Amino acid sequence: MKIGMIGLGIMGKPMAKNILKAGFTDLQVSDLNKDAVAEVVAAGAVASDNKTIGETCDVVMTMLPNSPHVKAVMLGESGVVGYMKPGSCFIDMSSINPVASKEIAAALAEKGIEMLDAPVSGGEPKAIDGTLSFMVGGKQEVFDKFKPLLDSMGASVVRCGEVGAGNTTKLANQIIVACNIQAVAEALTMAQKAGVEPQLVFEAIRGGLAGSTVMEAKAPMMMEGNDKPGFKIDLHIKDLNNALDCAHSFGAPVPMTAAVQEILQWLHNNGCGQNDHSAIAKYYQALTGIEIGR
Ligand code: NAD
Repeated sequence: MKIGMIGLGIMGKPMAKNILKAGFTDLQVSDLNKDAVAEVVAAGAVASDNKTIGETCDVVMTMLPNSPHVKAVMLGESGVVGYMKPGSCFIDMSSINPVASKEIAAALAEKGIEMLDAPVSGGEPKAIDGTLSFMVGGKQEVFDKFKPLLDSMGASVVRCGEVGAGNTTKLANQIIVACNIQAVAEALTMAQKAGVEPQLVFEAIRGGLAGSTVMEAKAPMMMEGNDKPGFKIDLHIKDLNNALDCAHSFGAPVPMTAAVQEILQWLHNNGCGQNDHSAIAKYYQALTGIEIGR
């Protein structure tokens, strides 16, 4: 199977290396960043361009920042779709607006090209380990055909419905994570203001109903004042913008998402856009003067 991959950033680069490691060795890659391309070529891929990828590959994969990037690469002037053959497939692993996924799929369908939207969660460490969680939208038979390829990068690959369902699931994930981080920061700030050590609050409640993967990962970072990303506030703003857009286009109320998005925007405006999203604690610090755990 001839595979093309466009977008070799924090996530795409290790994912491409894992595709090669799993034995899918006919891999062409492309990115605006030539150093990233060189690194994946050193691991066994072939440097290519969008035209050649479209003309020669059975499946084209992207791992790009957001909907406009995916639309520009696939449907824009000299877009990859213009070169792809009927019967080939496009798999977008970027986290984008599901409404955009459906628009791209409709344009591809006119040319007889299949599509899966297959965003991931897990971040850079799991991209490196090949243990990402994939949330996939698309036809069952297309999912079945390409699941082994996704398995090469992930520990969990779940089909959630038709095209767009993958990114809808990813937005649900991002809403739950953002609201959970805000709740952890708010609760630990409240406890410290009331005179109880946040570390003891964490130890006392982590095994109960309030405990969560988010609390395990982010409460220690808040207490250490460790803002190293992880997942950047600016990327979370991008995802919540997509969540608000998507929710509004379907008439779904998302008041908690809107509230946490305003706080993330305040953090962006105050120089924290490149910090880990656990830096939401800095918003509470600005309100109360409290640095959690310090
Ligand atoms: P990144 O910014 O590190 O990488 C994006 C890459 O796309 C860059 O290498 C850039 O040069 C390339 N690119 C941009 N426009 C291009 C174009 N026109 N042609 C070719 N290459 C182009 O981003 P990332 O962290 O790898 O994230 C990619 C996607 O995965 C995003 O949608 C993000 O939300 C999602 N995601 C990220 C994480 C994470 O922890 N970083 C976790 C889960 C999902």
